[in-house]
Amino acid sequence: MAGQEDQFKKVLSHAKEYGFVFQSSEIYDGLSAVYDYAQHGVELKKNIREYWWKAMVQLHENIVGVDAAILMHPTTWKASGHVDAFNDPLIDNKDSKKRYRADVLIEDYCAKIEGKINKEVAKAAKRFGDAFDKDQFVATNPRVLGYQDKINSILSRMAKSLENEDLADVKLLIEELGIADPLTGSKNWTEVKQFNLMFGTQIGASAENSTQVYLRPETAQGIFVNFLNVQKTGRMKIPFGIAQTGKAFRNEIVARQFIFRMREFEQMEMQFFIKPGTQKEWYEHWKKERLAWHLSLGMGADNYRFHDHEKLAHYADAAADIEFNFPFGFKELEGIHSRTDFDLSQHEQYSGKKLQYFDPQENKSYVPYVVETSIGLDRMFLAVFSNSLIDEALDNGTTRTVLKLPPVLAPYKAAILPLVKKDGLPEIAKEIVEDLKWDFNTFYDEKDAVGKRYRRQDAIGTPFCITADHQTLEDQTVTVRYRDTMDQQRVPITELRAMIGKEVSVRNWLKKIQE
Ligand code: ATP
Repeated sequence: MAGQEDQFKKVLSHAKEYGFVFQSSEIYDGLSAVYDYAQHGVELKKNIREYWWKAMVQLHENIVGVDAAILMHPTTWKASGHVDAFNDPLIDNKDSKKRYRADVLIEDYCAKIEGKINKEVAKAAKRFGDAFDKDQFVATNPRVLGYQDKINSILSRMAKSLENEDLADVKLLIEELGIADPLTGSKNWTEVKQFNLMFGTQIGASAENSTQVYLRPETAQGIFVNFLNVQKTGRMKIPFGIAQTGKAFRNEIVARQFIFRMREFEQMEMQFFIKPGTQKEWYEHWKKERLAWHLSLGMGADNYRFHDHEKLAHYADAAADIEFNFPFGFKELEGIHSRTDFDLSQHEQYSGKKLQYFDPQENKSYVPYVVETSIGLDRMFLAVFSNSLIDEALDNGTTRTVLKLPPVLAPYKAAILPLVKKDGLPEIAKEIVEDLKWDFNTFYDEKDAVGKRYRRQDAIGTPFCITADHQTLEDQTVTVRYRDTMDQQRVPITELRAMIGKEVSVRNWLKKIQE
């Protein structure tokens, strides 16, 4: 755990020191859970967005995009259920005056029991060596089964109480489990209350004529209200999808995990419209396809796992998270939800407009069912960034900090460095920049010794450093230094574009999804 906390601290300071993420309005001491992306962060974020967009829209002829407004007609949020049900159960500690999400306190308690299971597994793995069968052990060991039973009964009781709005029982559960304020150890809790997460604002100049509107808490509704417009104008046939990336806003109760839980964040969502009755099949399909997208980035299959929801949201008939191994443990990165016809039916009812699809094969109209994939861009950023940040011990006894980003996502694809700031080397280096910049984001650096410049590029994740030296003047070759291996190779200038292109092409990376 200490190692994980250290890693998280390192992530925070590296993100700031190397120009990835800053606290919003930092000169005024910041705004809680709101962040700005800096010069390198904005590139990484854009590349992740593009990697998603290409995989979802460009590679699927039956998926198209939209870019809906953040402000929507307020009835949207009545229809979607957000006005009445987009709540988190909050609880205050009377002694520390700290506020918590009651469900998160209970889930963290269960995560601790899970930690005990993992310890048992590790102990047994050591004892049995190669003969160890983890699945069998977990399914039969009485102590592990006892722990698992306890987790299951706690979570299902919580799910039931939340579903029945029995907040008194949620508090009782916290008391029965002896859950204390993680910061102070106090068990002096208030009642559990519901808290609506939507940010409200006003449209209109004067108080009398103004209308209460909301900053959208999810991008999905902008897709649903445009369903028929897109279907008709695009002549889309079911099954088809509509994708969108954009800002969403939630007044989160507890926001202490950097860009994991923000009050203003960005989502990348796709709503897939299908024939009723086929939702199970499509739900499984999108679970598989989304996991393959994650795995294509090569960040380690062990770092992902599915978590099937016990407590379903008001709109869902099945839901799973793809969880990622963040520096603070496995947490939700993406959700895949089978939303039935809930949203479109609700919008039909509230707007009085038909939102149906005429199926020529069936020769009838119906309200389509929907399977949604919804990922937080900022969470994906944090997953990639924290997973890539490595302190590496070198043969000469020193260490280097290197950000081993998947090259396809790196802010700069290549840094061009003249070995010295004279003898015509800066000129030739700049000529290389002039050529490469049409295809790749490049960086020119002539300050300090070349070793130091390499380290600077390592720290921001640039996969290639290209150094022009005196030999370059004679034979038009340069040294290419690889970020991950630090190997160096002599390459003709004319081959640079193809060489870099191969390593960073979205095509080569996304093709892995099909493998
Ligand atoms: P959580 O349980 O962590 O609050 P959620 O289940 O409410 O998340 P969804 O409504 O399913 O999240 O939203 C889809 C995705 O949007 C999440 O998987 C996550 O990646 C992202 N997301 C949600 N809330 C935030 C937030 N406050 N900050 C950053 N990303 C978020």
